[in-house]
Amino acid sequence: MTEKTFQQIKDSIEKATLDAQRPPNSVRLLAVSKKKSYKDIEKLYAQGQREFGENYLQESLDKITYFNERQSGQDIIWHFIGPIQSNKTRAIAENFTWVHSIDRLKIAQRLNDQRPANLPPLQVCLQVNIDHEQSKSGVLPQDAHHLAQAIKQLPKLNLRGIMVIPQKTAETSDGFIKTYELFSQLKKYIKINSQSSSDNFDTLSMGMSGDFPEAIRYGATIIRLGTLLFGNRD
Ligand SMILES: *Cc1c(COP(=O)(O)O)cnc(C)c1O
Repeated sequence: MTEKTFQQIKDSIEKATLDAQRPPNSVRLLAVSKKKSYKDIEKLYAQGQREFGENYLQESLDKITYFNERQSGQDIIWHFIGPIQSNKTRAIAENFTWVHSIDRLKIAQRLNDQRPANLPPLQVCLQVNIDHEQSKSGVLPQDAHHLAQAIKQLPKLNLRGIMVIPQKTAETSDGFIKTYELFSQLKKYIKINSQSSSDNFDTLSMGMSGDFPEAIRYGATIIRLGTLLFGNRD
């Protein structure tokens, strides 16, 4: 099997973006490196990739430490995208730039309180359980407005948008359409309810290796690719 090259994958992201009549370079690629080695990350880094997503805290801290101790790699932007237990929030607040997987206020409050004063606010997304699946984490769509409003009050968090993992069905686009509608509603709601004019609720994190062109068609601004970039995980 011939693996696609990094450049081919970036080309297909750009093609999907233009096919959707969206501006060039309006979709960011997050390389999901969970269960992958330093070497795998270095390979993409050497080709210009700077944003990496991790799911498992201890594994990610090992990687972050490794790259912080090297000359190259200190400018990696680390995104935490896995489920968050409350005893893990401190390390996340101290080591990540982005968190995509906030699903309850308690976690948001802890991240806010534990974000070091010398660092800029943590960039965060709400994870929404868009298909109401029992097995999945995420705030239910009907509770998202309330949680978003509460997070807006936390000074060390910058609420940037929502993250979803839609159900895989014959009609994946259903989940993407529902998500885009919710994203647009939340954006309006936050604009109306916020005092500051400098809102940047601009991030729709959706789309993975199997469905990213379609996610882009329905408005994704960050796609999260693992398998396609790195091959299968063990
Ligand atoms: C693992 C993972 C991905 C990447 O999935 P692939 O299908 O390998 O591209 C994206 N998002 C989340 C939240 C993940 O856990």
